[in-house]
Amino acid sequence: MNQAALKTRTERILRDLGIDPQVIAHRTLPYFEEVSEHLLEDTETDAETGKVYRLISPAATAWHQMKQQAAADGVGIYLVSAFRSLDYQAGLIRAKQEAGIAPQTFFTSLAPPGCSEHHTGCAVDINTPGCDEVTGVFGETEAFQWLQSHAARFGFVMSFPMNNPWGFIYEPWHWCWHSNS
Ligand SMILES: [Zn+2]
Repeated sequence: MNQAALKTRTERILRDLGIDPQVIAHRTLPYFEEVSEHLLEDTETDAETGKVYRLISPAATAWHQMKQQAAADGVGIYLVSAFRSLDYQAGLIRAKQEAGIAPQTFFTSLAPPGCSEHHTGCAVDINTPGCDEVTGVFGETEAFQWLQSHAARFGFVMSFPMNNPWGFIYEPWHWCWHSNS
């Protein structure tokens, strides 16, 4: 699907959620394909919930290598999110709606379905032991410092630095593996 077709699909999902697509019209959000299930690999299991996080194979390999190097350097990192389907993303949005939060607000920290890098199977949300919440405070951790120095070597790039052009909040926990880096 091309960007126009992907955009149309996102607009349809937003309407199904009762959200006027105009709410993101001023944002130059990119649209992503949802990766095929068969390309995803079980990458890590959540120690608390037992949830299995999946990435495409080369991203999973890069993640394991990065995590191993971080551990060798005395830094613990673990996944709190990886691949997310469009349906799953829509569910996250429904939860925000049920909590009474306005789309203009939650779309600064949650991408509309079709606009999340998590659909590609290349994006990860990372946390570290001792960091209670995956928010801007992750940016003050030793793990974040380590990632800033070393993640690029493994192909991971922080997608949403402060004042990013897409209008997302600063997300020091969100990194995306890029095959060409
Ligand atoms: Zn993320």
